[in-house]
Amino acid sequence: MDHMLNRRTFLKTSAASLPLAAAIQTLNRATVSAETIADAAIGGAAPKLIPLPARLTPVDPSILSWQQNIRRVGQSNMTEHDPAVMNIEQWADYWHSAGADIVFISVTGILAFYPSKVQFHRHGKFLNGRDFFGECVAAARKRGMRVVARMSPDLNWGDALEAHPEWAMRDGNGSVLFSGEDPRLFRTCMFTRYMDDYVPAIMREINSLYDVDCFYTNGWPPIGSLPKCHCAVCSKLPPPNTAAYWRTFNDRVVELWHKYDGIAKEKKSDSFYFANLGGNVRCGPNLDRLGKTAVWFQADNQGRTSDDPAVWGCSLQGRVCSAIMDGKFAANVSAAYSTGTVRWRNASKNPAEARMWLNETQASGMALYYHFIGSEAGFGEDRRWQKLGSDYFQWAKKHDAHLKPRRSLANIGVIMGQSTQLLYPAPAGAQAHDYMRETTHGIYATLLNGRFAFDFVHEDRLDLERISKYRALLLPNIAMLSDRQCQQIRDYVRSGGSIMASFETGLYDENLQRREEFAIADLLGISKAGDVIETNGNAYYGRIERSHPILDGFSNTNWLPGAQNRVPVKSVPDPILTVVPGFVQYPPELAYPPASHTDEPAVVLREVASSRLAYFPGDIERTFWLTGHGDLLRLLHNTIRWITQDEAVVNVDGDGFLEFFAWETTPGYAIHLLNYTNPNAYHGWLSTVYPLGPQTVSMTLPSGVKVRAVDLLRSDRTIPFRLEGAVLRFTIPRVDDYEIAAVTVG
Ligand SMILES: [Zn+2]
Repeated sequence: MDHMLNRRTFLKTSAASLPLAAAIQTLNRATVSAETIADAAIGGAAPKLIPLPARLTPVDPSILSWQQNIRRVGQSNMTEHDPAVMNIEQWADYWHSAGADIVFISVTGILAFYPSKVQFHRHGKFLNGRDFFGECVAAARKRGMRVVARMSPDLNWGDALEAHPEWAMRDGNGSVLFSGEDPRLFRTCMFTRYMDDYVPAIMREINSLYDVDCFYTNGWPPIGSLPKCHCAVCSKLPPPNTAAYWRTFNDRVVELWHKYDGIAKEKKSDSFYFANLGGNVRCGPNLDRLGKTAVWFQADNQGRTSDDPAVWGCSLQGRVCSAIMDGKFAANVSAAYSTGTVRWRNASKNPAEARMWLNETQASGMALYYHFIGSEAGFGEDRRWQKLGSDYFQWAKKHDAHLKPRRSLANIGVIMGQSTQLLYPAPAGAQAHDYMRETTHGIYATLLNGRFAFDFVHEDRLDLERISKYRALLLPNIAMLSDRQCQQIRDYVRSGGSIMASFETGLYDENLQRREEFAIADLLGISKAGDVIETNGNAYYGRIERSHPILDGFSNTNWLPGAQNRVPVKSVPDPILTVVPGFVQYPPELAYPPASHTDEPAVVLREVASSRLAYFPGDIERTFWLTGHGDLLRLLHNTIRWITQDEAVVNVDGDGFLEFFAWETTPGYAIHLLNYTNPNAYHGWLSTVYPLGPQTVSMTLPSGVKVRAVDLLRSDRTIPFRLEGAVLRFTIPRVDDYEIAAVTVG
């Protein structure tokens, strides 16, 4: 939460060359430290506002598929007991009055909620021959709501296992894998006929009996990891957790996806199939391939956990969806119930936390989707979640036009290395899974703290047409890069783009084969000098060799912290920072460097025409996440400003730690501000809101675009704006948990 004084505010305030003391007074910030002021005084010019691109041509809404007009999704996740206790009319009334456009209704596959005749589709024990699913579908239809038929192909019962032992996942000893929580259920293997025979049989039965709009499978494909199965089919596949296995896995996912989609369409051509695609950057299936296949991105990212504690988990997921869906539909499941490592599926979570998850869903461009488990008597033993959801949905419904994004206005692209996230082994001392999560959160926190406008860019979507909109691409330890991807990055730089990369970026190919040399060594002007050096006690430093814009604000020190791990690279002419090697931290008698001066670079910078390239040999983003060290944050911010030549598309000035999104919309533009200035930004759930003061937004409009109004959608008021030439400026006086400034043009 180290939010530095915003250098730009300072500079704007001090533009008339106020003496420093007067400038401090103008800022009127008791908390500003002298050191930060020194930094601000040293800092460069205010960011150059780059004009927004010419506005997109309007889209005729009638040509959109029906799901692209869905804005609100409701789900009461049905339990086996619900047919005995759920009041269907009350359930349908709630979602309808909340403004849900579509509801999920359980067919399942583990337990049938209708009198299924499919063998092994066991009827729920409270069903008693009743057509609970059919009654729910009718109640939803009567109210004009669409219906998702929800299935679960991941588990089944002993009788199915006895008849079809080949359907089960198995461990290395050949033993069947059972559910960790209810061992009566075995885990089904996605490579077996279970998925080819059993699942389609249920889908066809549903299509023959009911009018549903689309089909969804929960529990498959896996979220955030790849299966490890040793059944007869899987033992013939490449070994788990290899690039070859991942390709086979993706082939099977896409095969089944197309097969199920075809079955969905047997009844209605505008029906479709979709599945769970959560896990954000660590999604199981290849997101480039699935992004081309899916018409509904179901982001199953329901809430924070103690091992993934950052408040922006939902926004991060939204950025992943934007990177791959190209305007197709995406929704994120927000749990109203208590998610987390310790969870209560029938108790509402903190309202401030539930609301922030919905805020993030909306801000990051996804459709709202609210979810609770079980509908015991009275529509739930705990009914507190209901009002929060319906109030939120009702508010959003008033502003659909402004809340639906058309395109992001960001000028920085962060490459999300999905294969690196899934397969990269990480340095020996680290857990691979956590390692890349920490890396992602490190760059994410860096960008939020610096108030940069950024998008994620998938590693398989680096074609110039797509990435040329970005002034810079960031590669936070994107270890796995194919030759083709490297060539695309070279083409991007040749066209004028800039790069910041770190640590093992490009040291592996797409098959996880280690390279002798960095794949983009030529571009970055680096050469590998040895294997990864980890920290033993006291991490390495960077020694300041000369002044440079990336070192702005550092004074009274010769050393800066380095990172936990680094790849040694060969010396370069005229270095800016050189490595002071690490040493033990205990005993203190030995806590000094073996060599206080080396010629090993701790950063390598290059300028080629209008491109600027920066490479950090250390895992600096992740080390920032682990430590919160302000020097690393400043170094990263300075470097990002240097490679982007301090260009910005949207500038948001003001106090506080926030995340912002800037979208072009049909009526104009929408700037979303999420207030994370909160003691629970990194731990637990938000329990209260700490409002922020004024935030001034500046952006340069494309030529010919006139502003009609700027409205704040959360506080429901119109605010004044001013135009200085083409530069639009307005001040949002206060941000509680969330605010949206909707700019109407025309
Ligand atoms: Zn298997």
